[in-house]
Amino acid sequence: MYTVPPSTLVTGAGGFIGGHLVRALLQRGHQVRAVDVKPIQEWDQCFPEAENLVRDLKYLQNCREAAAGVNEVYNLAADMGGIGFIEKYKAACMLSVLISTHMLIAASEAGVERYFYSSSACVYAAGKQDRTDEVELREADAYPAMPEDGYGWEKLFAERMARHFREDYGLTTRVARYHNVYGPNGAWQGGREKAPAAICRKIAIAKLTGRDSIEIWGDGEQTRSFMYVDDCVEGTIAIAGGHVAEPLNLGSAELVTINRLVDIVEEIAGVELRRDYKLDAPQGVRGRSSDNTLIRAEFEWEPSTSLRDGLAVTYPWIERQVAMQLAGKAEASYRLPA
Ligand code: NAD
Repeated sequence: MYTVPPSTLVTGAGGFIGGHLVRALLQRGHQVRAVDVKPIQEWDQCFPEAENLVRDLKYLQNCREAAAGVNEVYNLAADMGGIGFIEKYKAACMLSVLISTHMLIAASEAGVERYFYSSSACVYAAGKQDRTDEVELREADAYPAMPEDGYGWEKLFAERMARHFREDYGLTTRVARYHNVYGPNGAWQGGREKAPAAICRKIAIAKLTGRDSIEIWGDGEQTRSFMYVDDCVEGTIAIAGGHVAEPLNLGSAELVTINRLVDIVEEIAGVELRRDYKLDAPQGVRGRSSDNTLIRAEFEWEPSTSLRDGLAVTYPWIERQVAMQLAGKAEASYRLPA
């Protein structure tokens, strides 16, 4: 019997996770509408098989156009970046509330079957993340609320709004709280990159230019867990299609210090560098990891790519970008799927 493939909207599709998600959905046979505010030439990945639209989703009319005729929505669009970006541009981060609000209205009006929202570990209170060990955050830890200023408040508000659209208007909403995602085809310079990409870039530049040191933000003893992007995409699709209505952590439980992250990248790059610790640089919380009890119980699955395995793919990609930049060449962002 012929079945019509699901028609799926991915917002923020020109970004890091959005690009990987579009690829995975296309591989699963979805018809994908990919929307982002950036010019197509600047998308991290762009797939000709998808319907690719450049629209500013802060505007309700553009959200209505994006949601028209689709079965499901993956809303990943947000103005965001690493800790340096979210500490500096709080108003810009909070303005993503226009995207979150208008996409919910448009999805509800269009009668879509499912609406997925990408929230963040930044919804958790800083007071629960002021040490380096035993920092696994449970979903219930988001309340009483005191999220990361700016970015975290917007994420928590948007989560809650999704819940009320579910309760009041019957829209099936699903929410994942992503913890630090990394991998190839994401921001690696320019201020929006996260710690793994920044460390890979610094090490690649040192290696390729003969420098003997790199700068580390903080004392390097702050702890984090980092989720490889393939795990993020797999978990996103599972949570979006699953039965759990409340927000779920989607992150790795492999806790490492930033110094350990640097050790691993150095091993992969084959270099050993002096570390200059910049103690007044933005560092975020002291320690953070994902408690995966709920996702394991509900899906018999959790992100499991080891940091070493994920970086073994990510570092060479970033080293190649750095090498091309040093050679005065830029890699085309518009590329065919592998
Ligand atoms: P990203 O910055 O690479 O992608 C976000 C995309 O949204 C960008 O391409 C951007 O151009 C687009 N966008 C911004 N404003 C828009 C607008 N007005 N209209 C349409 N598109 C717009 O970020 P990412 O790492 O791929 O993150 C995707 C989602 O996951 C975001 O919502 C982010 O907050 C969330 N998240 C990411 C991480 C992480 O570690 N990467 C962690 C927690 C949560």
